[in-house]
Amino acid sequence: MNPIIKNVKVICTAPEGINLVVVRVDTDQPGLYGLGCATLAYRWRSVRHLIETYLAPLVIGREVNNITELWQLMHQNAYWRSGPIANNAISGIDMALWDIKGKMANMPLYDLFGGKMRAGVPVYRHVDGKDADEICENIEKYRSIGVKYIRCQCGGYGGGGYGPAPSWAARGAHDGVYLDSRKYMRDTLKLFAQIREKEGDSIELVHDVHERIHPTEAVEFVKEMEPFHLFFMEDVVPLEQTEWLQRIRQTSVTPLSQGELFNNPAEYKKLIETRAIDYIRVHISEVGGITPARKIQQFAAEYGVRICWHGPGDMSPLAHAANIHIDLAAENLGLQEWSGIEPPNFVIQKLSGPHGALLDVFPGLPEYGNDGFVYANDRPGLGVDLNEAEAAKYPCNDDLTTWTQTRNPDGSLQTP
Ligand code: MG
Repeated sequence: MNPIIKNVKVICTAPEGINLVVVRVDTDQPGLYGLGCATLAYRWRSVRHLIETYLAPLVIGREVNNITELWQLMHQNAYWRSGPIANNAISGIDMALWDIKGKMANMPLYDLFGGKMRAGVPVYRHVDGKDADEICENIEKYRSIGVKYIRCQCGGYGGGGYGPAPSWAARGAHDGVYLDSRKYMRDTLKLFAQIREKEGDSIELVHDVHERIHPTEAVEFVKEMEPFHLFFMEDVVPLEQTEWLQRIRQTSVTPLSQGELFNNPAEYKKLIETRAIDYIRVHISEVGGITPARKIQQFAAEYGVRICWHGPGDMSPLAHAANIHIDLAAENLGLQEWSGIEPPNFVIQKLSGPHGALLDVFPGLPEYGNDGFVYANDRPGLGVDLNEAEAAKYPCNDDLTTWTQTRNPDGSLQTP
């Protein structure tokens, strides 16, 4: 069977207040369609426009089967390649084509990818709190449902919420998310000492710097965090400063992870080849979908670098499912970020908010098994569907993003 692409439709929905972009690809075979994630939450109109105006006319009438060729066609069609808007747009179609191919084969995608290397996918959960006591309380709640890896943050990623400049900022500084990196480092060291004292060493801990300190400070900070034996430290330097990772390597054995902002092979190839990182983070729609993501996974495996892919709230359940299918079949899975999408009656809802609306819009998403692992369902393809009538109830919003306006005490912008 070699179906032909008949239609490409973009559906934008925000069931939890976060803009999600979904692509539906229909074929000339009755009832045979696929779904993909093209979510760039903060530029959703641009992605939709690119798909509807340029990519849909490019792929309609072509053969579904040739996914690699279609990916390359979309990738080079504008001559200039990569970038978040183009990659997310391509991802929506790429993922939908894989979904169709899985349905044609009557196989879940992990089977098409070579079959299961493991029974379940180990995940880490995110814990925040105002102080060590509250954070430990939340850690205990997660431990009670089997979670073995926790990312601990205090007050977000070392800054408060968006608002006017605080009293300790320079006079006349703009509104923003204010961060004193020196204080953040001191507070985080104290926090992890308290967490280890209360929780012992039977829980694996992760911390995300979120690119919010200077590389010089990162060298110092990673070394000072060493006694707390993190499973890994995330994004200690900005994407543009990854040469500093080698310097950090020379002074600390703390494992490092990096990559949720990568969208171009030039950004990850060298880090893998030089083993500058232990875990590669990939935001699957940001790199252009399943086709490039599997290449990165296999490339990393050759160098002994494991994968731990981005799984935040600002990606759709289709992308979460794609992560899980790749994780299940990857020889080099390290861990998976999981942002709390579970059935509505699940105990964790009390911690992470209700996901009822998300489940109504996207029936079939992978489930957390109450034991530290996430499991894919065994339906063909991604195994996730889209209820368009439900999706229409939750329109996207055009609010300007504020959380990315991170600022230092002197009022200057800091990578978010
Ligand atoms: Mg991160």
